Amino acid sequence: MQSCSTFLHPVTAAGRNAFVPNASRLILVLGDQLDAASAAFDGIDAKRDVVWMAEVKHESAKVWSTKARIAVFLAAMRHFREALKEHGWRVDYRQIGGTSGETFAEQLRDAIQRLKPQKLVMVEAGEWSVAREIEAVAGEAGMELEVRPDRHFLCTREMFQKHAEGRKQLRMEFFYREMRQHSGVLMEKGKPVGGQWNFDHDNRESFGKAGPGLRMPPRRFKPDEITQGVIADVETHFAKHPGSLAEFDWPVTTAEARVALDDFIEHRLAEFGRYQDAMWTNEPWLYHSRLSAAMNLKLLDPREAIAAAEKAYRDGKAPLAAVEGFIRQILGWREYVRGIYWHFMPDYIERNAMLAEQELPEFYWTSETDMQCLRDAIGQTLRLGYAHHIQRLMVTGLFALLYGVHPRRVHEWYLAVYVDAVEWVELPNTLGMSQYGDGGVMASKPYVASGKYIQRMSNYCSGCRFDPAQSTGPKACPFTTLYWDYLLQHEPKLRQNQRMSMQVRNLARLDESQRGAIQEQAKQLRAAYSKAS
Ligand code: FAD
Ligand code: SF4
Repeated sequence: MQSCSTFLHPVTAAGRNAFVPNASRLILVLGDQLDAASAAFDGIDAKRDVVWMAEVKHESAKVWSTKARIAVFLAAMRHFREALKEHGWRVDYRQIGGTSGETFAEQLRDAIQRLKPQKLVMVEAGEWSVAREIEAVAGEAGMELEVRPDRHFLCTREMFQKHAEGRKQLRMEFFYREMRQHSGVLMEKGKPVGGQWNFDHDNRESFGKAGPGLRMPPRRFKPDEITQGVIADVETHFAKHPGSLAEFDWPVTTAEARVALDDFIEHRLAEFGRYQDAMWTNEPWLYHSRLSAAMNLKLLDPREAIAAAEKAYRDGKAPLAAVEGFIRQILGWREYVRGIYWHFMPDYIERNAMLAEQELPEFYWTSETDMQCLRDAIGQTLRLGYAHHIQRLMVTGLFALLYGVHPRRVHEWYLAVYVDAVEWVELPNTLGMSQYGDGGVMASKPYVASGKYIQRMSNYCSGCRFDPAQSTGPKACPFTTLYWDYLLQHEPKLRQNQRMSMQVRNLARLDESQRGAIQEQAKQLRAAYSKAS
């Protein structure tokens, strides 16, 4: 199935008017390519070339996107259209609700027919199936398609291939070190600043009983007239989609994204590392940057975010552990997952190493569950289109993994609900890091834990009817029950993984009757949640 992010990859062509037959080149701009410095615009002839963008309704329903996700893309696209026009460029923009077709391919065929270009130009699409779809339409029209490299990323696809060549196993840490050396970021005389590459061991704190305390709330971006128009369109055309737009405040232009970056550097970066993994009820943002959507749409250049963080360290405004931690997410993880995606697609999306077969429980779409951690993480996801990394990995992702949901179903949910969701970054994080569906490409072991991990890193359990210390009985935490059940179910496979040895060894402490009770409780849990679906 092709993901809805094609919709979010709309191609941009000149305004609503059929004004320019016989355009010289049709420059395709997808919904996640809103980069004014894009290679697609190199050598543009303002008189003869036409930029094409389209909002493609059909694609947003392929995965059941939240209203926030749809609105972020459309608002950013419509603002970008205005910016292109200010350059004096001709833009053929198809707005939702038009008559030129509901699918991406139909829209593109229509544009080719109307504008009769001599050639198509674009930068590399971010999604494998979109790239194939464009090639197919160009091929069937007998049209030359020039695909240029995407300069947004610091690591080209070729550089990643070279990094991967001859390695039995890929690991982010080694890639990251190469990227630090290559870019010179946080380096001095060829050595990492502070004498070590990674300060992760300083970055695992929880808030303790006192909680996160008072902080400056993140900068909000009140919807302007264009965004209000988008919000109205989303309410009309996507009325039944999940989520809400009542609190919509995402940056949707480059200028706003830069303000959001400054706000993060000034008010949250210094504590980012320390509390990176911490969670707290009704506190969606904590010390996180909220920059992923702006970066994935290409409104914000990752180099700007990296440079601003490094400057904060050199100016003495933020400690090295926080700055290195933040930079590692962007220069390391973000570039790495893109490399993994292109290296292993198209078969990557089909992987299911743990043979998980369950459907996603219905509460992922409603947040109606008595598990407080899931209620909070899913509730804010549907309300805001956002959850931070540990909520995604160790609450929603962990539950799906332990419950045994098919990785494809988990992938579809993550791709649908977050404002920053685009397949190249979402898929390796979900199928690989979170579900271990790739059998160890992204993560060296499954990220499995009992409810006690969530208790340690948050205050969720104190407001929950379950007890994370119990694996059986009426108060047993479903995470804890399913954690032991997962180890029992996959014991032979996990035994072969050195990094799982301690967890597997702990299984020996369970006698036969305890094992049986856990398995029975896990069976009942699955039956109850699947009935509710
Ligand atoms: P911060 O915590 O402030 O981090 C700073 C930046 O680092 C982010 O903006 C992001 O660009 C980058 N980053 C951090 N972690 C990762 C990572 N693991 N992979 C790639 N980049 C990273 N990120 C997405 O951008 N889109 C997705 O669709 C997405 N899906 C995810 C699904 C799962 C199951 C998991 C576990 C993680 C996913 N992530 C995804 C990674 C990460 O959770 C988000 O980038 C982050 O939560 C975005 O919030 P933020 O901007 O406040 O990030
Ligand atoms: Fe989540 Fe279990 Fe804690 Fe409840 S007790 S909040 S279900 S981890």
